[in-house]
Amino acid sequence: MNVVDDKTVVREYFNATGFDRWRRIYGDGEVNKVQLDIRIGHQQTIDHVLGWLKADDNLSQITVCDAGCGVGSLSIPLAEAGAKVFSSDISEKMVEEAKERAATELGQGTNPTFSVQDLESLSGSYHTVICLDVLIHYPQDKAADMIAHLSSLAESRLILSFAPKTLAYSLLKKIGDFFPGPSKATRAYLHREADVVKILEANGWKIERNAMTKTRFYFSRLLEAVKK
Ligand code: SAM
Repeated sequence: MNVVDDKTVVREYFNATGFDRWRRIYGDGEVNKVQLDIRIGHQQTIDHVLGWLKADDNLSQITVCDAGCGVGSLSIPLAEAGAKVFSSDISEKMVEEAKERAATELGQGTNPTFSVQDLESLSGSYHTVICLDVLIHYPQDKAADMIAHLSSLAESRLILSFAPKTLAYSLLKKIGDFFPGPSKATRAYLHREADVVKILEANGWKIERNAMTKTRFYFSRLLEAVKK
């Protein structure tokens, strides 16, 4: 499958069954055990990023591009903490949901701003670019272009999270592929951390902080890259 096909599948998924599934996981209503585990893991990733950015104590002076923002799990608290946030997602439904959540939690306003855009079409320049749990939708050979594009938008910092490709997780994924459940509507791509770091370094970054979130069903490696 090439990236165009992958992208179409991903967009359609997050506008339909994927939207229902992930809106629930990224919410606070009742969910099944697996979804609850993923919700808790994902929240830890969000909390890591918020913790880092708040510790820097300059949120009110920076612009943040949240690429592939989902329902706004990071964008909303970041805007609330004072950053100027530009949020976008390939899925219209996710963006609609994010807008509604932002209006409920922050009141009607212009921060964050939301747009329906795939990340390759994003332009502009932001202090910090953040892209959480989106690389899972990118095959290995497309990761370099994707990261290079995000790098071109980031002035000072790029924060990425991805499912790391280790032997154990590759096996887990194989088993998952072997017994596909109804929710496994998109392919999931794992990435070797060494590959991601190499790509970041080739784009002029060095790793400043990192974290790993690991629950039973959710695993995500988080890297903060800053200018060399
Ligand atoms: N970053 C959000 C978070 O951590 O809460 C959402 C993560 S969710 C697993 C992945 C999101 O990436 C979905 O909302 C999906 O629509 C979006 N996405 C996937 N491929 C994308 C692309 N090429 N451009 C922009 N968004 C994309």
